[in-house]
Amino acid sequence: MKIAVLKEHADGERRVAATPETARKFVALGAEVAIEAGAGEAATYADQAYRDAGAIVGDRAATLAGADIVLGVQGPDPAGLAGTAAGAWIVAGLNPFGAGANGRDRVDAYAAGGYEALAMEFMPRITRAQSMDILSSQSNLAGYKAVLDAASEYGRAFPMMMTAAGTVSAAKAFVMGVGVAGLQAIATARRLGAQVSATDVRSATREQIQSLGAKPIFVENVKGIEGEGSGGYAGEMSDEYKAAQAELVSSHIAKQDIVITTALIPGRPAPRLITDAQVASMKPGSVIVDLAVEQGGNVEGAVAGEIVVRHGVKIVGHRNVASRLPADASALFGRNLYNFLSTFWDKEAGRPVLDEEIGDAVRLTRGGQIVNARLLGA
Ligand code: NAD
Repeated sequence: MKIAVLKEHADGERRVAATPETARKFVALGAEVAIEAGAGEAATYADQAYRDAGAIVGDRAATLAGADIVLGVQGPDPAGLAGTAAGAWIVAGLNPFGAGANGRDRVDAYAAGGYEALAMEFMPRITRAQSMDILSSQSNLAGYKAVLDAASEYGRAFPMMMTAAGTVSAAKAFVMGVGVAGLQAIATARRLGAQVSATDVRSATREQIQSLGAKPIFVENVKGIEGEGSGGYAGEMSDEYKAAQAELVSSHIAKQDIVITTALIPGRPAPRLITDAQVASMKPGSVIVDLAVEQGGNVEGAVAGEIVVRHGVKIVGHRNVASRLPADASALFGRNLYNFLSTFWDKEAGRPVLDEEIGDAVRLTRGGQIVNARLLGA
């Protein structure tokens, strides 16, 4: 069983799918681990560290030759996979709902090439799969980094400071969308000394917000308040709810210095939470970080990969925020992949054998076909 780890080629991608730590663990399971030279460089993991862990470091062709499993952070280019074993697994974040060359087209190409593509972002949200969940591990870091990015763009301090020259008041920070990223954003903004409030469509988050010492901002008594969709994800809200939420947010947002938005609905464009008029109502110098910018954005005017200024307000739209902390993001991503494959490792077969619940959830392609119920619309 040969596991190959390739250097990532997507723009701005600094993470790597295995660290020396996880390479060593795969070797201990009995796998041969091959790393493309330089794969860990941008995440501060040197080739020699992989060698010391028992992996073989070589060029791309040697890395792929006879590989049974190819690990990636993002999906590797299907045209650049020659030499793998027939029916090799591609285990990575595959962006299956994305359009075009970095999304669905790539998945179709994996099917055509006979690969078995396993999309880690389709990991079910069940307790036993928590340690395998790349969305959680990467969102956690993104939520943290979003607040640091906001703090460095903000021309004022976060904490209240009483100085001989007078008092600096605490920044008011508002977190919209309290999933994994939002909770970490609340905790980080609190640690920096901001006054924090937060909102979500799932009423279960109210207690979580309070337990972190922040103030919940919630629409009350409107039909459709319970926004829990399937599998712990948010569902689409009623029009009545959306109108009430927009009104509440309007009055609250005008008083905020920092806003972090994280709201996502799987398989759909991100919900629009902040209009241009609401941006205009904020004080000049305020900062908004839109973590959903690559899924269409929660904030009107946000541009992926850019920091734009609208009405004196900075709207930060960094792409791939987890990759801005490449060492930790790779360490957690790599452990997610290791936890996944090792949980299903069949000692006799010397390879992972997936069960139905998790296998069917993550498997996109097999035997030349798309086989995933979410992609087939079943
Ligand atoms: P997510 O990334 O899908 O969405 C981010 C947040 O935005 C969610 O809290 C969502 O409710 C919220 N949102 C969506 N539309 C909104 C709107 N219009 N206005 C305001 N907020 C909106 O969510 P996530 O971070 O993946 O986490 C969602 C839940 O799933 C959490 O409770 C998390 O703890 C749970 N979870 C469980 C597991 C597991 O058990 N293995 C793994 C991951 C997440």
